[in-house]
Amino acid sequence: MSVTDTPAISLEFFPPRDIAAAERLVRAAKQMLAMHPRYVSVTFGAGGSTRAGTATTVRTLSNLGCEAAPHLSCVGSTRDDLRAILAAYKAEGIKRVVALRGDLPSGMGGDAGELRYASDLVAFIREEMGDWFHIEVAAYPEMHPQAANPESDLDNFKRKVDLGADSAITQYFFNPDAYFDFVDRAQARGVTVPIVPGIMPITNHTQLMRFSDMCGAEVPRWIRLRLASFGDDKASIRSFGVDVVTALCQNLLDNGAPGLHFYSLNSAEAPMAIWKNLDLGGEKRALAAS
Ligand code: FAD
Repeated sequence: MSVTDTPAISLEFFPPRDIAAAERLVRAAKQMLAMHPRYVSVTFGAGGSTRAGTATTVRTLSNLGCEAAPHLSCVGSTRDDLRAILAAYKAEGIKRVVALRGDLPSGMGGDAGELRYASDLVAFIREEMGDWFHIEVAAYPEMHPQAANPESDLDNFKRKVDLGADSAITQYFFNPDAYFDFVDRAQARGVTVPIVPGIMPITNHTQLMRFSDMCGAEVPRWIRLRLASFGDDKASIRSFGVDVVTALCQNLLDNGAPGLHFYSLNSAEAPMAIWKNLDLGGEKRALAAS
């Protein structure tokens, strides 16, 4: 394996809500530079964060020397809004975006915006900006919760690739078979772009269950039972979480996943603990030494 074949590590952050959180984010990001991320990404609109927060955080992370990729969702936006955001990113030299539909906050029923699906956004970015951006899209090994069935969800994923997506990041999962089955089915349909597994560290039982209910990710019964058995013992939850997610990541890499995209939740501790445990081959040592 050459260094260019080294599994690509990427890291996801969300825009911090206040100055103290921004300082914590910078500290965490600096620590995680040791993981040699190929790029870092910043969520958009998720959890009430603002568009400006995404752009500011992208700038902060770019200044640390990382390639930073803003997430961009089309829901609730006009073409003019999206055009202006993309033009501003291009003017700043941003070359990669994560293109999403997004979710309307509950209570905002009516105004879905001018583009309906992420595939419309991918097509719009290609029409407006040609090949300037590397476009990442979302993929759902356990099916997007609103999809009619796994086949139509795969059709909808493939449409994003056919319209110009360069690579994909999956929703998180804890069952590697779901990922490999999805990749096999996508490849059987002619999808050749990398599909990078999204990795959610386990650090907090309540938060994990809440996120998983929202996004339709299955937390296997044995993991739920073990987490419940630890009660408020945070250290045991973290240690168990690192072991479980390390085993998942190693399995994914050993069986051909092209990289790992960590949902860092703006904290270095768990992603770095997992990364340090992973056998990434000689390249990890070479990179770490460089
Ligand atoms: P789409 O690909 O448009 O799919 C949404 C649903 O519509 C699916 O059920 C699909 O099967 C269906 N569909 C697609 N096209 C069609 C069609 N033509 N006809 C009928 N049905 C169709 N959310 C945020 O708000 N901000 C973020 O920063 C953010 N980052 C994310 C990063 C990753 C890696 C992932 C996996 C998710 C992220 N999300 C984020 C969540 C995401 O916005 C939601 O999961 C959202 O519900 C779907 O977005 P999508 O881009 O996958 O949508």
